[in-house]
Amino acid sequence: MSYRIGVISGDGIGPEIVAEARKVLDCIGTKYGHTFEYEEILMGGCSIDATGVPLTDEAIAQAKASDAVLMGSIGGNTATSPWYQLEPGLRPEAGLLKLRKSLNLFANLRPAYLYEELKEACPLREDIIGDGFDMMIMRELTGGLYFGERRTEEKDGVITATDTLTYNENEIRRIAARGFDIARKRRRKVTSVDKANVLDSSRLWRKIVEEVAKDYPDVSYEHMLVDNCAMQLVKDPKQFDVILTENMFGDILSDEASMVTGSIGMLSSASLNDTRFGLYEPSGGSAPDIAGKGIANPIATVLSAAMLLRYSLDLDTEADAVEAAVKQVLKDGYRTIDIMPQKAAGASSVKRVGTKEMGDLIVERIEKR
Ligand code: NAD
Repeated sequence: MSYRIGVISGDGIGPEIVAEARKVLDCIGTKYGHTFEYEEILMGGCSIDATGVPLTDEAIAQAKASDAVLMGSIGGNTATSPWYQLEPGLRPEAGLLKLRKSLNLFANLRPAYLYEELKEACPLREDIIGDGFDMMIMRELTGGLYFGERRTEEKDGVITATDTLTYNENEIRRIAARGFDIARKRRRKVTSVDKANVLDSSRLWRKIVEEVAKDYPDVSYEHMLVDNCAMQLVKDPKQFDVILTENMFGDILSDEASMVTGSIGMLSSASLNDTRFGLYEPSGGSAPDIAGKGIANPIATVLSAAMLLRYSLDLDTEADAVEAAVKQVLKDGYRTIDIMPQKAAGASSVKRVGTKEMGDLIVERIEKR
């Protein structure tokens, strides 16, 4: 089969890590008889430099015409880059928000998985880690506080800023159904996270989740308040399978979950709409501090490509092959700088590699399978 993949390399380490994921996809194509045609799409700082805006209508059309989009990362150093002197709607991140909205990417999936080989990088105590953990954060992405009405105004000499958090029942129903669908393919447990003791939007969230749960009698579910969830993630992360939550809570909890796995450089993500289309990107940002040095970890982007194979192209065997190759590389002792063991004892048994070498090692293991 032939597939059309939109590629947003973006800024900072984006082009470096995307190049490795493409290498992996090409290897999968050769081995399993698929053709991946790539089309570069401008978004973020590089688009501002080329066109004056972070995302053009042409770029949106290119993304819509693809089977899926693979992305690196966008943005620069927010303190020093001239992109951040622009008004908020013209900054790099505005491009991503606009793309998510234009493509109706309402479901954001972020797996948080602790690899056996990286247990040392996990900041939690050994007795808490146990055999490791494997959870999926399902975050609503196109509603809530980040898309609500906002204003800043001065009344009687006092400046007041207002943001609004709005969800309607349809928005909650579709993300909840996605969450239960994903749970069905995993350990069949959904933890719906809200702040129903305070917020109306959360009370509606809870009511609709309960309605949706009736269609999934084979999946167990529970409600958890967001403050408790933040605590449970570091106290007992093994309890979670799918965490289902709204936009801002998901933003914060998914970063917390990623931190307990040890490195942001390992974590993939997918943003899906009602069709098979998805945007796949690493959870981290453009890491301007290490851009151009050839040391960024490409694994999160490679694993995002694996999610692309699984969720948009329905190529489960191929996705399994990529994930197994990543595990094998770690087992064989190869590490990028961000996942090097801190203790000298561990350091002697592992080999430090750069971005390209890590990509090559993954490709080799796919070829060998
Ligand atoms: P960041 O994730 O870019 O970097 C945080 C730290 O993690 C840095 O020390 C960085 O070197 C490290 N890191 C990140 N990815 C890594 C990788 N693959 N390998 C090794 N180390 C890695 O977060 P930040 O510094 O807060 O943000 C930098 C820029 O990225 C900002 O402009 C921000 O807005 C943008 N950003 C973009 C996205 C996106 O494209 N979706 C997401 C988050 C942040």
